[in-house]
Amino acid sequence: MTATPFGPLLERAHDHAFEYLRELPDRHVDASATRDELLAALGAPLAAGGEAGEAVIDLLATQAVRGTAACSSPRYFGFVIGGAYPVALAADWLVSTWDQNAGIYVISPLVAVVEEVAAGWLLDLFDLPRESGVGFVTGCQMANFTCLAAARHGMLRRAGWDVEADGLYGAPRVNIVASAEAHITIDVALRYLGFGTRAIQRVEADEQGRMRADRLAGLMASLEGPTIICAQAGNVNTGAVDPLREIGAIAQRHQAWLHVDGAFGLWARASHRHAALADGIELADSWATDAHKWLNVPYDSGVAIVRHAQDHRAAMTSTAAYLIQTQGTERDAVDWVPEFSRRARGVPVYATLRALGRDGVGDLVDRCCARANQVAEILSGESGVRILNDVVLNQVLVRFADDEDTTRRVIAGVQQDGTCWLGGTTWHGRAAMRISVSNWATSEEDVARSADAIMKVFRALQRG
Ligand SMILES: *Cc1c(COP(=O)(O)O)cnc(C)c1O
Repeated sequence: MTATPFGPLLERAHDHAFEYLRELPDRHVDASATRDELLAALGAPLAAGGEAGEAVIDLLATQAVRGTAACSSPRYFGFVIGGAYPVALAADWLVSTWDQNAGIYVISPLVAVVEEVAAGWLLDLFDLPRESGVGFVTGCQMANFTCLAAARHGMLRRAGWDVEADGLYGAPRVNIVASAEAHITIDVALRYLGFGTRAIQRVEADEQGRMRADRLAGLMASLEGPTIICAQAGNVNTGAVDPLREIGAIAQRHQAWLHVDGAFGLWARASHRHAALADGIELADSWATDAHKWLNVPYDSGVAIVRHAQDHRAAMTSTAAYLIQTQGTERDAVDWVPEFSRRARGVPVYATLRALGRDGVGDLVDRCCARANQVAEILSGESGVRILNDVVLNQVLVRFADDEDTTRRVIAGVQQDGTCWLGGTTWHGRAAMRISVSNWATSEEDVARSADAIMKVFRALQRG
C-alpha cells in the first residue's frame, strides 16, 4: 500500500475518537472547562506560519474536547438531543472521507441515489404520500422553512400569484395560523419567508400544549383567502401531539395548507404502539422532522417532506447556465433544499434505516418512551415530586416541592453532579425540570442511576 498524507492524521483522529467514545458512557456529562479555560487553551492570534496537522488534531482532542457536553451520552436528557448509532457515525466518517458535494446528480451520483432511496424509505416508514417531495436539510428549522416556502408558493399559485418571480409586494394576503405552543423555529421560518411574526394568528392550546381544534375552527370561520396552518406533533416540553385528524378536517374544509412540525413526534408513526398518537398526520400538506434527534444520526440532519412535490420543487429549485441539471429521472438535491452545495447528509440516514429496519426504528421509539415512563414512575413515587405532563411520548416535566426556587436548584445541582444532564423550562408559568429520552443507548440502568442522582440532589436541598 502506498503511504498517503492522510494516514498519520486519520489514525490519530481515529485513536482520539475511540478514546472519546470509550469514556463517553462514564464521564461527567457536562463540559469540564469554562469559556475562559477553553480560550486560554485554544485562543491565540492567527500565526503567520502554521503548525503540524498532528499537533492541531492533538490540541483539539485533548483541549477543545473539555468543552464538549456529552450530548451523545446515554444519560444526556437535555433539550431533545439524540445520540449517534455506531452505524450512523461510521457512515458519517465515510461522508467526510468522500467529500461529496450533494448539490446535483452530476457531482455525486452516489449521494443522489442514496438520498432517493432513503427518501422512499422515510415516506414508507411514516406512511406518508409516496409521491411527496423530500429534502435532506440541516435540521427541523430548515425543514420548517422549506415546507413553509412550499406552502407559500402553493397557496399563492392557487391564488394566481407567482411569489418566486414577483415576491410578496402586492401579493394576495396569506393568513398565517399557528398554535400558541408552536416551536420558535416556526416563527423564525415565517420571518425568513417575509410573512413576519406579527402576522401569526395564534390558536390557544390545551393544558398539555395541544392546539385546540374548536378554537381553530372558530378562527378559520372568520378568515378569508389563502391560509397556512402550522400544527405540531411533539410539543417540545410535553411531547403532546395536536389533534391532527380534527385539524386536518378543518384545513381541508377551508382549503388551507396544513403544515406539521414533527421534529421528533413524526417518529411516533414508525412505532405500532405509538402511531395512534399521530393519527391524522397524513392529512397534512407538509411535514418537517429531524433525523439528528430521534433517528440518532450525527448532527446535522433534518428532513422536509411536501405532499405537493411541484410546489416543493418550485419553491427550492435553482438554475444557472453552467449547472448541468438532469432532465430525466435522476435526482438533483438543489431542487428540494435551500442549500446549493451541501454535505451528503442523507447517507447516515440511509445507513441507519438500513441497519435498523422498520422494526428497529419502531423499537427505538418504544424503548425511549418506556424509559421516559420509567423515570416518571420512579420520580412520581417520591414525596414532594410531581410530574406535570401526561407522559405520552419521550418527554417528562418534573416539579419539586411545588416551588420555583427548589425546582431550579435541583436542575442546577443535577447538572453539577454530572451523572446525567437535563435542563429546565417554564410550563404554564411554573418552573419545571425537562427530561427528554431520545438516545438509542439509554438503558433502564441509566434511568435508575439518573433518578437516584436527581433524588439525591433534591433530598440534600430539603435537608437544607
Ligand atoms: C428541535 C425542534 C425544532 C428545531 O429543530 P432543529 O433540528 O434544532 O433545527 C423544531 N420543532 C420542534 C418541535 C423541535 O423539537
